[in-house]
Amino acid sequence: MIKKALEVLQRYFGYTQFRDGQQKVIASLLQGSDTLAIMPTGAGKSLAYQIPALLFKGTTLVISPLISLMKDQVDALQQYGVPATFINSSLSLKEVRSRIELAAHGKYKLLYVAPERLESDSFRSLLESLQVTFLAIDEAHCVSQWGHDFRPSYLQLGPFLKSLPQKPLIGAFTATATEEVQSDIIRLLGLSKPGIFVTGFDRPNLTFSTFRGENKKDFVLEYTKTHADQPGIIYAGTRKEVDNLQSFLMKSGLKVGKYHAGMTDEDRKKSQEDFLFDEITVMVATNAFGMGIDKSNVRYVIHYNMPRNMEAYYQEAGRAGRDGEPGECLLLFSPQDVVLQRYLIEQSIFQPERKMNELKKLQGMVDYCHTPRCLRKSILEYFGEEDVREECNNCSSCNDERDTVDITLEAQKVFSCIYRMRERFGIGLVAEVLKGSRKAKIRELRFDELSTHGIMQEVALQDIKDLINCLVAEGYLQLSNGEYPVVKLLPNAVSVLKGEAKVTRKVSPKPSRQESEEVSLFDRLRALRREIALRENLPPYMIFADSTLREMAQICPLNHRAMIRISGVGERKLEKYGDEFLAVIGNACKNQEAEETRSEINELEKPPAKNNQPSHLQTLFMYREGHSLEEIANIRKVTPITIQNHLVRCGLDGQVVPWDDFIPVEQEPRILEAIQQVGGERLRPIKDLLSDEVEWFTIRAVLEKHKVVGGSDQ
Ligand code: ADP
Repeated sequence: MIKKALEVLQRYFGYTQFRDGQQKVIASLLQGSDTLAIMPTGAGKSLAYQIPALLFKGTTLVISPLISLMKDQVDALQQYGVPATFINSSLSLKEVRSRIELAAHGKYKLLYVAPERLESDSFRSLLESLQVTFLAIDEAHCVSQWGHDFRPSYLQLGPFLKSLPQKPLIGAFTATATEEVQSDIIRLLGLSKPGIFVTGFDRPNLTFSTFRGENKKDFVLEYTKTHADQPGIIYAGTRKEVDNLQSFLMKSGLKVGKYHAGMTDEDRKKSQEDFLFDEITVMVATNAFGMGIDKSNVRYVIHYNMPRNMEAYYQEAGRAGRDGEPGECLLLFSPQDVVLQRYLIEQSIFQPERKMNELKKLQGMVDYCHTPRCLRKSILEYFGEEDVREECNNCSSCNDERDTVDITLEAQKVFSCIYRMRERFGIGLVAEVLKGSRKAKIRELRFDELSTHGIMQEVALQDIKDLINCLVAEGYLQLSNGEYPVVKLLPNAVSVLKGEAKVTRKVSPKPSRQESEEVSLFDRLRALRREIALRENLPPYMIFADSTLREMAQICPLNHRAMIRISGVGERKLEKYGDEFLAVIGNACKNQEAEETRSEINELEKPPAKNNQPSHLQTLFMYREGHSLEEIANIRKVTPITIQNHLVRCGLDGQVVPWDDFIPVEQEPRILEAIQQVGGERLRPIKDLLSDEVEWFTIRAVLEKHKVVGGSDQ
């Protein structure tokens, strides 16, 4: 049965392998067991119910909480050639009837429905005409009051299921794993002896970083500017903060939208669509934004304020890099965030036990922002994973390249000033005294007579405030609770004042612009994707994921056979878009050749006769003349990847290429074995089975040497 599932995965979705966890969940469902799948955001939950739905007889009902997103989900499925539709309040009764009728006649395999629908008797009786074999419940944690997205309408699911003449198979899917939520899901949805699968929480493609005491506005501006063409989300704590930050970033010319519950439905919808369609690249939002947003190419998530607990943080940060490509999760901590969150908890939770629990979780989050340990390890252990390795080498703790600067003297000036002001004022006033302001309030309080007045006059006021924030974050100072927090000295600060301890601060290097060798072809492919997206009125990521375009840019497929090898290119998409993308890739290769030829004309090393030859053949000749691939790349002023592409092209043209030169003897049998296991259609699954030292080009060389087509030797 799982073999059939794999065929569906390949044919419709263009992927060759199941991800961790997916296979077990699918196998359990195919066996007919109710199943609870707990998989982190981006792990691929949707496929875990869509594939069984395609294999089961009858129709699968998918319960999905957000009406606004159903259309997106269905559009994405239709793109893959999967017959699906949705029913929600945007449709007339006539349209609803017609969709159900069509489903009953086998026209749709998946029917997306909002939970509220099931409360309506007339809708329930309409459903009787359908053979519902499988009910998939997305975001199943919404049924639990312990979860953070409780939806009362989810409670209707249990009674609805009981009312059916025959109970369908149930699959419940969520990213939230706490025990209370799990047992609520099982109990309230009436799962019988369910298979429970918890996929590892790790998201290896995400980089986690925390920053303390940064000037947040400057940081965000710098970051968004250096990543201007990459979609990203910035979460801020309050609506006001969202409004301010969005207008601040807009002034610098960035394409920024916003989203919060204070906006009209229409404005929110527009903003969300602009983001999905890449009309805006940055979305500044409160935590109201995001549940069910399937945009797969979000490259970064910045938390402008610390969220209230790790569950919320991981869910929000996890919206980066769903396509498996690198994503960055940056958290900017400031002590005021703790004050705000504590205030919110005090205001909204009255039951002492729950309040204590929330405050404990908040403290866990504060600890995360301060820990020098591996951040990934902290997260995974928080979610109960065991045996996590000490260092992930992909977080700001493991890769701390910041310079350490001694700031003892500055810290002493600050502490001494706070002491002299009798620890009764906030950060703003302390900074102004240090700067030497003579405003009325300062003169009234006679702070202009203090010895610390103006001792930091050469430092910008904002920098002084940042420094004080940093000293709070590092545990030298404390902010009192309440609306106007006051800064006080902690014992650590006293030791520094006495000269017994030093204070250091980490200074971040400026974020650098990411550049890659294939950037121009990738950009061209992206431009084509955008054109098609506009034409078809679909968000660009539904045409192809970033990861698929990147692989195209790297591999440069020149025909259908090579194109179907790219991960994310299934039969339907190959048929629909393959030729357009091949044309862009083909042109890029031609232009590159023309450019190379032009630059080579100026090269004295180049024998003139060979300029008449196509560029890829010239590479082969130069190789035969005894140049190494690296030398050829240098002489021809192109990247090594281009040279490798030339050789592959020579192979496709029927030239004899000495492939053995590029295949380390010990690697060949391993690569062949991997090809046997996963076929030769796509490179990525082969690469995934091998150790990192095996290069892409070596795999391509083996495939070409053995002329592997569709996994078999010819
Ligand atoms: P979740 O619902 O768990 O957050 P999604 O179902 O939206 O995750 O999947 C995230 C991304 O991963 C999507 O772009 C999807 O196409 C991709 N994906 C899912 N399964 C696979 C797979 N087996 N191989 C490659 N990509 C996959």
